[in-house]
Amino acid sequence: MRTFLNDEDKKIILDSIRDIPDFPKPGIMFKDITTLLNNAKAYQTLMNHLEKRYKEANLDYIVGLDARGFIFGAALADRLKIGFVPVRKKGKLPSATICEKYELEYGFDEVEIHLDAFPKENANVLIIDDLIATGGTAYAASKLVLDTKANLVEICFIMNLKFLKGDVRLEKIAPVYSVLDI
Ligand code: AMP
Repeated sequence: MRTFLNDEDKKIILDSIRDIPDFPKPGIMFKDITTLLNNAKAYQTLMNHLEKRYKEANLDYIVGLDARGFIFGAALADRLKIGFVPVRKKGKLPSATICEKYELEYGFDEVEIHLDAFPKENANVLIIDDLIATGGTAYAASKLVLDTKANLVEICFIMNLKFLKGDVRLEKIAPVYSVLDI
């Protein structure tokens, strides 16, 4: 059974995240995690929880999503003593990649992973990002991980904007866990 976070620790993390209205454009309430990262108590409370939740999950790699998923993903991979793999926006990875397109509010974006990202066969992988909104980014990243024939154990977010229901579509691919439902 995986661990969940108690209400006291949830509050420490939630209180450390700052709301910035109308960023990057009018109507968006941006969840700013820089104030979580510069708060040692909040950052450690979060990382202690993620370490506890996933230490017995038999994971081989953590996949972090560009760019804030790198911060939590790399720290978690180090704690679990396993490898870290970045999924990046198109054009940033230097070796051979596979690519997945996804829809934005206006237009499209693309994410990539190295073809040889997982040296271990049938690797057990956890995807992590800071926040799920529509779920488009995580959905595309999940397809990339599955295309490499890895086993997607769970998709983890620090925050889930529940009202957008991005998690509903993702649940069809793999279990979804969010530390905080917003
Ligand atoms: P989506 O693909 O719609 O689920 O968007 C998720 C990505 O956009 C994540 O990488 C988030 O970091 C970022 N994002 C979307 N909405 C917000 C928000 N309100 N506050 C902070 N980041 C956001």
